[in-house]
Amino acid sequence: MSEGVLNPVTNFIRDIVRADIDEGRHTSVVTRFPPEPNGYLHIGHAKSICLNFSIAEEFGGRCHLRFDDTNPIKEEQEYIDAIQRDVRWLGFDWGEELYFASDYFEQLYEWAEHLIKNGDAYVDDQTANEIRENRGTLTTPGLNSPHRKRAPEENLNLFRRMRAGEFPNGARVLRAKIDMSSGNINLRDPVLYRIIHTAHPRTGTKWCIYPNYDFAHGQSDAIEGITHSFCTLEFEDHRPLYDWLLGRLPVPAFPRQYEFARLNLSFTIMSKRFLIRLVRDGHVSGWDDPRMPTLAGMRRRGIPPEAIRDFIRRCGVARAIGITELAMLDACVREYLNKIAPRYMAVLRPLKVVIENYPDGEGEMLEAVNNPEDSAAGLRQVPFSRELYIEQDDFMENPPKKFFRLSPGKEIRLRYAYFITCREVLKNSAGEVIELRCTYDPETKGGNAPDGRKVKATLHWVSAPHAKVSEVRLYNPLFTQPDPGANDNPIANLNSKSVEVVPNAQLEPALDMTAPGEIMQFERLGYFCRDPDEGLIFNRTVGLRDSYAKAR
Ligand code: ATP
Ligand code: MG
Repeated sequence: MSEGVLNPVTNFIRDIVRADIDEGRHTSVVTRFPPEPNGYLHIGHAKSICLNFSIAEEFGGRCHLRFDDTNPIKEEQEYIDAIQRDVRWLGFDWGEELYFASDYFEQLYEWAEHLIKNGDAYVDDQTANEIRENRGTLTTPGLNSPHRKRAPEENLNLFRRMRAGEFPNGARVLRAKIDMSSGNINLRDPVLYRIIHTAHPRTGTKWCIYPNYDFAHGQSDAIEGITHSFCTLEFEDHRPLYDWLLGRLPVPAFPRQYEFARLNLSFTIMSKRFLIRLVRDGHVSGWDDPRMPTLAGMRRRGIPPEAIRDFIRRCGVARAIGITELAMLDACVREYLNKIAPRYMAVLRPLKVVIENYPDGEGEMLEAVNNPEDSAAGLRQVPFSRELYIEQDDFMENPPKKFFRLSPGKEIRLRYAYFITCREVLKNSAGEVIELRCTYDPETKGGNAPDGRKVKATLHWVSAPHAKVSEVRLYNPLFTQPDPGANDNPIANLNSKSVEVVPNAQLEPALDMTAPGEIMQFERLGYFCRDPDEGLIFNRTVGLRDSYAKAR
């Protein structure tokens, strides 16, 4: 990607790689993005993707996409497909470098036997509960398994029988023989293989034992010749195990692992375990619900990949853990869309306006600017007529002093059209305003008065007989709390107003011609995206100002 995703901001990861190249420890750089296909990618993954691909690009190396598909219970082909789609959409290309940890199962198995033969691993018959109980705590050492002293031949025999499917799930595991009193709990004889009689999306029923993450990850990096293995800080305590294994196996390379702080966003939970729950329990319409922090959800909401990359670049890469404001992502989206989004007029909550002195049955086309930030975007024609809609909240019958929009006797400008003055307010039997009778000044066509008089407000509008009716969905954060993950039950913090459906929006007719997925600005309201699947429906990507959400 030519923009160099992390340029010109430097960070400690770049410095490490730069020094390795400058000082001759490496001649080329190989990184990888290693998702587990147990859910869709979220904005946190975007940080890892941008980091790995941009480091490879900057130093003329390559970045692999490797699926860490070692747990068939949780992994699905749907996720494998979605992850590839989303990495590509974000703007990155792994070329031919697509790998699966499952492609290494045979090699990993051989290396497990290698450990056993050298007395570095043993088969344990304890139950999962016993293993957990005997692991000890941060302050107390663990207890050696009664099977820890098994001879290598017996271990080898049992391990081969595990592979052959002789034992049920959970009957035995293979463990590394390290140190049950290590201060690092990851080194207290970690489990390397477990029995899982479940078909795998790629290897089918070939295997009934599967390596766990810690055994597969480092060795997969080594097989692929990864020079720099970047991961988030929670794996820092796994690094000694990663290095322990690499140091005892005849691996072709010794990748170094470096950790950085994961991305956290306010009003957002990113754990896949939690996101799956939202999907399965129907709190959202799916992984691509526009409220989800997934890349698929963001795409559906109209957030462009350029804005996500810009956001990630601004977040930087460091080891300090923090929470980034969701408002910062919104700001990046606005800044990008302001430059590229064509403008249209749409009225979400219509109030009818009749221009009494405009000839009945007539109409005209007026010129509107497609994008004031981009002169090449040109002009379009918008129909005007005697009957219009404006927003209900652009009118007040008894306005406070600072309300400059329409009220009885007040003159305002209709964007690209005329000055109008409100003459009369019509109400229904409930006392609600249902129609305004106004007059226009034909001399103000285009929105300027020849006598130079000014108005304080410019309103958007739609011609009633020409309007297209559509549903518009206004999205707000999924949670009411800035740190929903801090709560024991984040579900309780779900925002009941995370989507407001506006059923009867009136659109200028050109919006009917937009394509599914197209992004635009509705003047004065925000950026919107035509839903990719559901017909003439628009999703609000983001409001025009930060204060917008708070003010409503
Ligand atoms: P989750 O915690 O959401 O379930 P995960 O770490 O289990 O995510 P993986 O598929 O294993 O998901 O992640 C692939 C890569 O993305 C890993 O290298 C992981 O460190 C990185 N990653 C995951 N979440 C974040 C995040 N919030 N910020 C930065 N990188 C992340
Ligand atoms: Mg993980």
